[in-house]
Amino acid sequence: MPAAPQESRPDSLTLATRSEVRHDWSLEEIEALFALPFNDLLFRAQQVHRAHFEANAVQVSTLLSIKTGACPEDCKYCPQSGHYNTGLGKEKLLEIEKVVEQARAAREAGASRFCMGAAWKSPRERDLEVVLEMVRRVKELGLETCMTLGMVDTDQAGRLAEAGLDYYNHNLDTSPDYYGEIITTRTYADRLETLGNVREAGMKVCSGGILGMGEAPRDRAALLQQLVKLEPHPESVPINMLVKVPGTPLENVEDLDPIEYIRAIAVARLLMPKSHVRLSAGREQMDDSTQALAFLAGANSIFYGDTLLTTGNPQVKKDRALFDRLGLHPERRETCTDEAGQQAALTAALEANAVRQAAAAQESAAGRLAYDAAQA
Ligand code: SF4
Repeated sequence: MPAAPQESRPDSLTLATRSEVRHDWSLEEIEALFALPFNDLLFRAQQVHRAHFEANAVQVSTLLSIKTGACPEDCKYCPQSGHYNTGLGKEKLLEIEKVVEQARAAREAGASRFCMGAAWKSPRERDLEVVLEMVRRVKELGLETCMTLGMVDTDQAGRLAEAGLDYYNHNLDTSPDYYGEIITTRTYADRLETLGNVREAGMKVCSGGILGMGEAPRDRAALLQQLVKLEPHPESVPINMLVKVPGTPLENVEDLDPIEYIRAIAVARLLMPKSHVRLSAGREQMDDSTQALAFLAGANSIFYGDTLLTTGNPQVKKDRALFDRLGLHPERRETCTDEAGQQAALTAALEANAVRQAAAAQESAAGRLAYDAAQA
């Protein structure tokens, strides 16, 4: 009779990762995590996840592009860059009332956080004044607020914090070594400086990257190493899968193996045990099984709705069905502690929101409500 296959024994490396919050991970240590047998990696990630989070709760955010297109930066993955012809029109900053209306709809649909993105290098003074008012008004609805506006200096970060902005998103995108292949109009150091300004102003940090841009496995490890060096770790870590948009320089890059994507989610969970790891842009291209694996690997945040800029996002109903099949539920908001009540409210609101979004999609065929996946 053949011997039963031996179970992988937990080694000191995997045991050491169980719940520690560290900032000094070496590249070799991180690569060793990536190299673990897949089942061992997911098992460890799930253990760490359960030590810090409610196992089946997923934080749900909604995203709105408040200013789309004609960005002066040259991020090679981004349809909003003015450097590439992707057919995306240039739009003005949305009116405050439109933003508030969308935020209200997001709240009704069960979102706990409302994220607003603008395709800017950095906000101009006259735009910042409007944006500050948007933050105040969305806050009044009882939603957490998040913005991504490009680079911000200490003064701008301070004013955003004062207006009540909870999170600022600014992604590192990729490893320092690969960065120059993707963006040339601002440096890695610029990005780290903005993150420092955000933290100094007292806001929470949302920062992650994009996988599948032709980077080497070592670059994925190096990106995560940069994120764990941040003290404290970013509260929110979006791990995006590249959405290949025709007209961008990366439109024909080779697909990333979904298993490698799941590994990156699991390693992010191990390295940043207390952060929300977000399954972000690229979700529409993933089948349900891949998304299920991502949740198992420790992803516990998503965007829903169809407002991810120009790159789409699974429809609300589809998300709801997946949550049902997996027994997941939205992370509780402080205002709602009754899980059953919340579920019922969410179901009703999702239906209403789907109708509203279909109408909005018709009205904005040119991508008016779309969002910058790069900044997601
Ligand atoms: S990712 Fe952001 S900064 Fe880069 S081109 Fe797109 S909108 Fe501009």
